[in-house]
Amino acid sequence: MQLTYFAEIILPLAVEETYTYRVPNEMVADIDVGKRVVVQFTRNKLYAGIVERIHNDAPSKFQAKYIDAVIDEKPIVNQIQMRFWAWVAQYYCCSLGEVFLAAVPASLRMSSETVVSVLPLDIDELATLSLEEQAVYEYVQAKEVITLHDLFKHTENRSVFALVKQMNEKGFLVLEESLNQKYSAKKVAFIKLANALFKPVILEDWFNKLSRAPKQADALMAYLSVFVSQGNKYDWIKKSELTVKGNVGAAAIKSLVQKGILVEEQMAIDRLDFALHADDAPVNLSDYQTEKKEAIDRAFETTDITLLHGVTGSGKTEIYLKLIQEVIAKVQQVLYLVPVIALTTQLLKRLRKHLGTKVGVYHSKYTSNERAELWFKTLNKDGVQVIIGPRSAMFLPFSDLGLIVVDEEHESSFKQYEPAPRYQARDSAILLAKYHNAKLLLGSATPSIEAFWMCKTGKTALIEMSKRYGKAKLPTLQLVDLSAKGERQGEFFSETLLAKIKQLLAQKEQVILFQNRRGFAPSWQCKTCGWVPYCTNCDISLTYHKYRNVMLCHYCSHTAPTPEKCGACGSPEMTMMGFGTERVEEDLSIIFPDVKIARLDQDTTRGKNALSKLIEDFENHDIDILVGTQMVTKGLDFENVGLVGILSADHILSFPDFRAFERSYQLMTQVAGRAGRKDKLGEVLIQTYNPSHKILKYILEQDYEGMYAEEISEREQLSYPPLCRLIRITIKHKDKVLCQQAAEYFAKMLRKAFGEERVLGPEAALIERIRNQYIQNTLLKIERKYSPKQSKVYLHEAIQNMRLHARFKPVRIIIDVDPY
Ligand code: ADP
Ligand code: ZN
Ligand code: ZN
Repeated sequence: MQLTYFAEIILPLAVEETYTYRVPNEMVADIDVGKRVVVQFTRNKLYAGIVERIHNDAPSKFQAKYIDAVIDEKPIVNQIQMRFWAWVAQYYCCSLGEVFLAAVPASLRMSSETVVSVLPLDIDELATLSLEEQAVYEYVQAKEVITLHDLFKHTENRSVFALVKQMNEKGFLVLEESLNQKYSAKKVAFIKLANALFKPVILEDWFNKLSRAPKQADALMAYLSVFVSQGNKYDWIKKSELTVKGNVGAAAIKSLVQKGILVEEQMAIDRLDFALHADDAPVNLSDYQTEKKEAIDRAFETTDITLLHGVTGSGKTEIYLKLIQEVIAKVQQVLYLVPVIALTTQLLKRLRKHLGTKVGVYHSKYTSNERAELWFKTLNKDGVQVIIGPRSAMFLPFSDLGLIVVDEEHESSFKQYEPAPRYQARDSAILLAKYHNAKLLLGSATPSIEAFWMCKTGKTALIEMSKRYGKAKLPTLQLVDLSAKGERQGEFFSETLLAKIKQLLAQKEQVILFQNRRGFAPSWQCKTCGWVPYCTNCDISLTYHKYRNVMLCHYCSHTAPTPEKCGACGSPEMTMMGFGTERVEEDLSIIFPDVKIARLDQDTTRGKNALSKLIEDFENHDIDILVGTQMVTKGLDFENVGLVGILSADHILSFPDFRAFERSYQLMTQVAGRAGRKDKLGEVLIQTYNPSHKILKYILEQDYEGMYAEEISEREQLSYPPLCRLIRITIKHKDKVLCQQAAEYFAKMLRKAFGEERVLGPEAALIERIRNQYIQNTLLKIERKYSPKQSKVYLHEAIQNMRLHARFKPVRIIIDVDPY
């Protein structure tokens, strides 16, 4: 008797469970866990889902639909990933479908709604299309863009998804790309000499061996002559330089590639720059760095996690690179996670120099097609061994990770807030490393309290680096008391700071000024009655942006004209309160009319290359004073920065959560770290009305341990992470009363399940309404020994229960595990 097979399918949707489909007999041999299959879900929609599990248990409550087609020849998601996805879904309280959406690049997630369009092909390429492919290509080309649904209707071919997938991989079609992106995906073939051969003796040897293959010898010679004509600089050469200009046969090149003499790679033109500068230069550590690197090696003999606590400029990156090179030599993979804003051209150049083309960059600025390509390179261990990227890079299909580096592990951008999965990449990396049996290296100049606590409690090794590389010294820090007599000049400059800026400009040194608020002024107020213009969708005042001449909501982007008179009493006398980067920039240009001033914040870095351009200008000293938000903390060369000014420490210290002091310490120390020159001392001035604040004392003395000790004892007393776990339940609805009632009902269930003392709230969020949705938060405080699994069970039950009440149905429930 033949067994009937069923498969659990993960759909690319925020649905709670996997869905059971029946495997047609003819597909039993083809289907496999991790492959994509086409299934129908709801009446008319087709999706490419991932096979999670195959079994023989017929569902009892419904008749399972058949799977329509198997798309992949080989699984595109491996077993370790499946295990990791399951953990993420379980721990962060979301569905596998939501993890699927976050993990897999859009062009690998096909559904009826996926938009397809063609890539331009030349005649030769067109000739390689099969008849079936040609028919699809021509149809799509005629329509310009078409959904898979329409294509399916037109062809009536059940395997059209597979066909489209194949054509996408060959570079004939693009999926879900906006039209202006797709041309950048166009690839060109490059070749170079395999690295190990770059020695005259070895080359001579090869020429001898090729004596009976004159065409190949000619090809090699042609390569070398182009290389020399380029000044021995760029070892990657366009293949067409040889085949078209150099009259070399493609077959000869192919043979040389097969023999391992030449390397061929398809590269997008816009990434060419990296390739040209690619190299495998060895990393040369200083004695001090070598000592630390060896300490890390020793630590890894007995533990799986190590924290490298090294001051800014100590050369942590160099140490990572050294460790990475060693892992590469063992033919293992490396994941190098960085905060979003750290992925600058500067860092990428450095990586290319030492890791050559073995490094792949997973960047949100790359097209979905390019990301899909990196997915397959990782899956097939094809060339790329090191992946650098922000948090989402951890979802790539690694099969054999040897090392995970989380640089700047304290950065809040490792946490995803919206949408689900609301995961913390640093924390999740612990599990990912475990599943691969890999080592995890966390690095920071200002570790998170969590990471340091893990060291103190013995789970993690700690390596400290207190010296900067070379002759560079750590900057000196000094407070400026704004309340002191005669100190304040205008709204936000002190006498001391202005004098110091003048002095440095005279010495031809650069200055960075930090204010963690963009726009011109955070609010306007009526001088008579105190009226302030608010956003119509959110309970927050509007920020004045002078350059655009609008009032802007930073939560929903709503804009309003600047008020000419008070909206309440009609008085024409309005005054600005507070200041953002725009206003600092403007005031500076009045005080220093002949100085080159620039601003680095969200508003000035929107364009594709705007950030790189600003950084470049700063490096080239085309900017004297740079005013910026926390974006200045990463990716800036500090060789010539004599002074860093923090304009308002008080504003930073007033973060509204239990991490306020930890964050303040990190932020101000990181900003301060931008100061310092190769051999001269840099200076940091911190303006405050509250010079005796204890956190400022720790910052001034750069006493991380002191700050840590104070923080951890406070968190012990008040029971905050890392000594307990927090789960935040957010209820949202446009009706204030319903939102409150739902939140209260939910909290009541939680009190029953978890006990009175573990549930705080509900209470209105700090900003009670955003985008016209009212927000109520309830906080669960759970001891670390309490089973995380059990808490998820209770939460799940509460959600189910809530769904039984018709009137609470439209209410949105958001679970955020480890929300801060
Ligand atoms: P961190 O990541 O600890 O802030 P970096 O690795 O960025 O420090 O190093 C700071 C600067 O010192 C960089 O410009 C880097 O190129 C230089 N540097 C550090 N170590 C070395 C080394 N061993 N050889 C050459 N330059 C180094
Ligand atoms: Zn008024
Ligand atoms: Zn708003």
